[in-house]
Amino acid sequence: MDNETIKRDVVIIGSGPAGLTAAIYAARASLRPLLIDAPADAEKQTTPGGQLMITTDVENYPGFANAIEGPELMEQFRRQAERFGTEFMETWITEVDLSERPFQLYTKGPTISTETLIIATGASAKWLGIPGEAKVPNGFGGNGVSACATCDGPLPAFRNKDIVVVGGGDTAMEEATFLTRYAAKVYVVHRRDKLRASKIMQDKAFHNPKIEFIWNTAVEEIGGTADDGVQWVKLRNRQTGEEQNFPCAGVFVAIGHKPNTDLFKGWLDMDEIGYIKTAHRSTATNIPGVFACGDVQDAVYRQAVTAAGTGCMSAIDAERFLDHLPVEMPSGEEVTMEGEHVTADHQAIITPDGHMIPNQAELAVGEE
Ligand SMILES: Cc1cc2nc3c(=O)[nH]c(=O)nc-3n(C[C@H](O)[C@H](O)[C@H](O)COP(=O)(O)OP(=O)(O)OC[C@H]3O[C@@H](n4cnc5c(N)ncnc54)[C@H](O)[C@@H]3O)c2cc1C
Repeated sequence: MDNETIKRDVVIIGSGPAGLTAAIYAARASLRPLLIDAPADAEKQTTPGGQLMITTDVENYPGFANAIEGPELMEQFRRQAERFGTEFMETWITEVDLSERPFQLYTKGPTISTETLIIATGASAKWLGIPGEAKVPNGFGGNGVSACATCDGPLPAFRNKDIVVVGGGDTAMEEATFLTRYAAKVYVVHRRDKLRASKIMQDKAFHNPKIEFIWNTAVEEIGGTADDGVQWVKLRNRQTGEEQNFPCAGVFVAIGHKPNTDLFKGWLDMDEIGYIKTAHRSTATNIPGVFACGDVQDAVYRQAVTAAGTGCMSAIDAERFLDHLPVEMPSGEEVTMEGEHVTADHQAIITPDGHMIPNQAELAVGEE
């Protein structure tokens, strides 16, 4: 088994909403996708099923009028992908070689060789690592502690209550501003005496009467009860050393996300944080035949429905590519499987051997 090479046309990495949606589409297109996912690992924050496996009620995924629990939603995704013939493999990919097609994916067991690769490895929220922050039952994660205001802010537990947001960047300002729709008051706790956020986001937060700042302060512990959730945070002033238990009903940790892209560094173009860059109108990366979908390429929306949407796009892009049709690249050019390039202005086609052909239909005599 160890020296075996598994050959596929479509391999998907990651079984969150993006990867499983890509699998549903690719399997229905008879592409026999192989979906690879990392085993559960608390330290590396990987869970088959992705981020929604660690949440309770999902109230904003369309199609579920009365909310659905995260793990149950992901079980439905998985069964739908299985129904059309997706094959699953649970393993770590240790290294990739994307220098030429078929791409090579190395594991401790078989090597996987694939004509197209769909990357759906998601992103992990950065956490403070303080007592009380871990997921229920070890802490209040999912019971008053969250890293996503859009996801959890509207829940009844936070309505008309005092909430703490931790962080000083754009994400923290955005989360705090959003939470003022529901909370009585939002306290932004920041370690320094000035924010990292852009001026426009700072101004918006400073002018919001429901937001108050607690400067030079670290959150050291989160406390409460299993029945009522979060009730207080322990704050320590970093200049005076003064400590206090500050009452609140929720804590939103907004200190950033880390996309799970270490495996692809050096191969794929990424932004300064590590999000994979994709094309404007497709999920193509800088390497023809490699596509990325979901949170791994989305620093802005980070929602299950947007991840699923781009997962669908990735599968259709891979299918087009395998059908020898042009797919738009981040450069604006379109590229086919054979290496033909359609220029960004659509005026010319450059063949793999460098010839340039005008990209215009030949007109019949008398036509204009
Ligand atoms: C607590 C919480 C609550 C949330 N609530 C909501 C909500 O109510 N509504 C909503 O729309 N969104 C919610 N979100 C956001 C939503 O979960 C994400 O936007 C969505 O899961 C992103 O999907 P994805 O498929 O891109 O990635 P993920 O769900 O992150 O899945 C990535 C997958 O890749 C795997 N993986 C990672 N690295 C590797 C590797 N090297 N090799 C193999 N596999 C790998 C992981 O195991 C995982 O299965 C919530 C997020 C959190 C953390």
